[in-house]
Amino acid sequence: MSHSNSRDPAANQLLDFAKKVEHADKPSATTNSGNPIGYNDASLTVGKKGPILLQDWVLIDKLSHFSRERIPERVVHAKGAGAFGYFEVTHDITQYTAAKVFSKLGKKTPVAVRFSQVAGEMGSADTVRDVRGFAWKFYTEDGIWDLVGNNTPIFFIRDAILFPSFIHILKRNPVTHLRDWDMFWDMMSLRPETTHQLLIFFSDRGIPDSYRHMHGYGSNTFALVNEYGSFYYCKFHYKSDQGIGTMDPDKATKTAGEDPDYLTRDLYNAIASGDYPSWTFSIQIMTPEQAASSPYDPFDVTKVWLHAEYPLIPVGKIVLNRNPKNYFAEVEQLAFDPAHLIPGIEPSPDRMLQGRLFNYGDAHRYRLGVNSLQLPVNRPFKLHNFDRDGFATINSQGGAPNYHPNSFGGAESDTRAKGLAPVLPVEGKASRYDNGDEDNFTQARSLYKDVLTSDQRGRLVDNIAMSLKQASEFLQERAIKNFSKVDVEFGKSIKAKIHARGQHAAAEI
Ligand code: NDP
Repeated sequence: MSHSNSRDPAANQLLDFAKKVEHADKPSATTNSGNPIGYNDASLTVGKKGPILLQDWVLIDKLSHFSRERIPERVVHAKGAGAFGYFEVTHDITQYTAAKVFSKLGKKTPVAVRFSQVAGEMGSADTVRDVRGFAWKFYTEDGIWDLVGNNTPIFFIRDAILFPSFIHILKRNPVTHLRDWDMFWDMMSLRPETTHQLLIFFSDRGIPDSYRHMHGYGSNTFALVNEYGSFYYCKFHYKSDQGIGTMDPDKATKTAGEDPDYLTRDLYNAIASGDYPSWTFSIQIMTPEQAASSPYDPFDVTKVWLHAEYPLIPVGKIVLNRNPKNYFAEVEQLAFDPAHLIPGIEPSPDRMLQGRLFNYGDAHRYRLGVNSLQLPVNRPFKLHNFDRDGFATINSQGGAPNYHPNSFGGAESDTRAKGLAPVLPVEGKASRYDNGDEDNFTQARSLYKDVLTSDQRGRLVDNIAMSLKQASEFLQERAIKNFSKVDVEFGKSIKAKIHARGQHAAAEI
């Protein structure tokens, strides 16, 4: 449905603002330096038709700010929407973690969320087939905890060294500046570990009907540490209390033209109308002993931990009840980083997580600057360290010493935090080990054969064929070979579908 002419809460934003200030005195316009602007409709010229004077600071102030309004968009996850709310503990998991955010039943912690499309640029349509970013920021008493996940429990690749290439194949061909299905299917078929995620990507869940109607997952494996120093490996799940909602691909294509911001609008209007979306937050726990004897690598992000072996343990509820007051300030500048971990939650050897621990902070330092964590939407409740200065410093820490050790009351190491870092058992020789062939098909097979209904399998075949037929024939063959390793009939169905529709029917899509 097109919302473009309806008077929903998003459409009424300016009217609502006007109502709010209707009885207040109108503020006087100012420059960025707060100096009153006497007349805001004309530049300072010599005579009515003469040239503008360089001394027209009001004009220079406006134009120079305008040309600096945009900052680099995120290389991935550029298009997105955000909101705010709270996390509430409903179940006790203190046996697994001493993280204060989980310390007692009923405890509430403010959160921010950002949903996003992975591949497209800032202005791309919301209803494309893609994985959705689904990231939480918890503003805890122990600082920021960012759980930077997706709406899929797994990922395409298992080693961060492939990540830049992987994103390149989702983006534009550097010559034609077009999405390129040869690029896409070439790398996907050369790296069969992508198969499991491709099944989710091309399943119904590849196009959510709203951000409210999708589950989220921390995806990577983390470690939890309890007050006695025992540690457990952990996966995070946040299941939508609204249930799953997906969009038919034809409707998605139409909606992309009619209302490219469909998902953003839906989220804003739901929250503005008081229809607050929520998610049930759970964990899976694996002991270090179970991890050591697991038949599959529990740190491989192309795999799930089976529910039957590692059941979901309920933890809490997350509710979104506030829209951003300003998109740029609170969503475009909202900076998530998997390295923002609190005592009681630690990384695991997950090779994708290990790369992400560096990469996100690095991206923010480039995009938002070295002091991005001092921006109101990113800042922790307390900050005591020895870093100072840099572009756009906001917090200079009240004159505390900027060096350690010192004799003048500067910050001390937190002994509690030290006790909550697990001593991970690590051994082996440093090398670049081939990790391409670590059982790429068993879990994909289980999804295809045991989880999806026959209707869902049919649509999965259709969706894969629609995309694959746009790739060169040798790539189609290579991809089908991988899908056949999931299930022989599956591979045959994709092949039949491609040939039934004709290989060069890209215009149909
Ligand atoms: P179960 O058989 O216990 O549950 C199946 C899971 O699959 C449910 O969580 C279900 O979500 C989810 N699911 C259903 N349709 C899709 C879809 N199109 N895309 C992604 N997820 C979907 O799972 P098992 O633990 O025995 O694992 C079997 C397979 O299920 C795995 O190989 C994996 O592909 C998939 N899966 C497993 C998850 C896990 O954490 N174990 C999580 C998600 C998927 P819902 O709760 O909405 O029904």
